Amino acid sequence: MTIQLRDYQEKAVKDVRQAYKEGFKAPFLTAPTGAGKTVMLAEICASASIKKTHTILLVHRQELVVQTAKTLAKFGIEHSIIAPAKVVQNAIRIQVEQFKRSFFRDESFIYIATVQTLVRRMADLPKFDLLLIDEAHHGVAGTWLKIVKSYPGARVLGVSATPERLDGQGLGIHCGGIFDVLIEGPTIGELIERGYLTRPRVYCPPIQADFDGLKTIAGDFDRKEQEKRLNKPRIIGDVIAHYRKYCDGVPAIAFCPTVEYAKYVADNFNAAGYRAASIDGKMDDYARNKAIDDLGNGRLDVLTSCEIVSEGTDIPVVGAAILLRKTKSLGLYLQQVGRALRPYPGKTETIILDHVGNCNEHGLPDEPHKWTLDGRVRRGRSGSGGSLACRQCLNCYAVYPSTVTVCPVCGTPASKTKIEIEEVEGELVEFQKRAEKIERGRAKTMDELIEFGKQKGMKNPAAWAWYVYNGRRAKEERRRF
Ligand SMILES: [Zn+2]
Repeated sequence: MTIQLRDYQEKAVKDVRQAYKEGFKAPFLTAPTGAGKTVMLAEICASASIKKTHTILLVHRQELVVQTAKTLAKFGIEHSIIAPAKVVQNAIRIQVEQFKRSFFRDESFIYIATVQTLVRRMADLPKFDLLLIDEAHHGVAGTWLKIVKSYPGARVLGVSATPERLDGQGLGIHCGGIFDVLIEGPTIGELIERGYLTRPRVYCPPIQADFDGLKTIAGDFDRKEQEKRLNKPRIIGDVIAHYRKYCDGVPAIAFCPTVEYAKYVADNFNAAGYRAASIDGKMDDYARNKAIDDLGNGRLDVLTSCEIVSEGTDIPVVGAAILLRKTKSLGLYLQQVGRALRPYPGKTETIILDHVGNCNEHGLPDEPHKWTLDGRVRRGRSGSGGSLACRQCLNCYAVYPSTVTVCPVCGTPASKTKIEIEEVEGELVEFQKRAEKIERGRAKTMDELIEFGKQKGMKNPAAWAWYVYNGRRAKEERRRF
């Protein structure tokens, strides 16, 4: 079966091949969540399989092995899986159910594994010529360097929606990573324009949480401390009230700072009459997948999680994201929002309830973001790729681009952006200085000057008046001669 690629997918694959031709060894391809990265990887696997190139497709978590194998099976690509027997059996069972046969082969040119499994079993495996790394922003430099060194001469391809590690470190060779060139696929904005993603509608409703002075741990805001500050009945009450107001009953994912807080949020949604569940990495696969399926088939309204649904989880019906984890990572912010942007029949826009102000830090999700392989530190203001030039409606809390002058949701005239407010304040100070100078000029005699000094609250008005008076006289003298 040939793989039907969208034009931008075709271009991205072509750009990758061109990079190898130009002598690059390890390009990093970035394309937003929903752009179809797995399809592009499948296309590369398909041609590698035809050319008999020993290829390994590396995923980030065990659950993704089965999912990735299913995608390859969908396009008729035979593959081996290096994983515990249980995982392999599960992958085969799912393929037989869906396609009436399995595409699993013990010996194949295409292998699927997690990075960790490959590192442990490298000695028993064939020499790979092509290493494909999905969700490649998770790179742990040491592990990757070990892999790359074990296959000298092999080509590498990293793929991710967000080429930035959570701790802000760069992925390029010059930052201790393994990639040598960044290839940029389409932007979120382009995919929205073309109907491949839904448009996000961001609201930043206030909750009475205080995030001042949050410490940074491993490159991001302290999550335990966030949990402590958010763990208040008043705050969770606000969160639920806003969900009710903006997207009552819309399937939503709430992203939380900790597993405990995710449970707390789910419990409170349940108590408020919604159907909610929380998932985490320690649950067994069955329970976790059931919760994800239940959100997809309408048995749940809200799924809460700390990290587990940020990536790889594909539930197109989800129409709202509730952001309760404040992050310095543009990548994490976009991964979370990206979960809710998939198109679905009847879904006209996606509601983002950003309770922690991530959009103030990183900009709107659909504005162009500037990626590099250099890491966060080199990317200017607040470490964000966003323009930071968005406005917030003081009436309905919608957040929209600074170029728009009326709230697109409720029609309230635009409020000022942070930068504009600073500019106005600056002008005001200048204006006050000028007004004061004119007023001072009106005080001619020594007595008038002393009076002016008193009015302005000067410490020693008489001494000040003496300086000004004599200063003026000296100036006049100079003018006369
Ligand atoms: Zn408004």
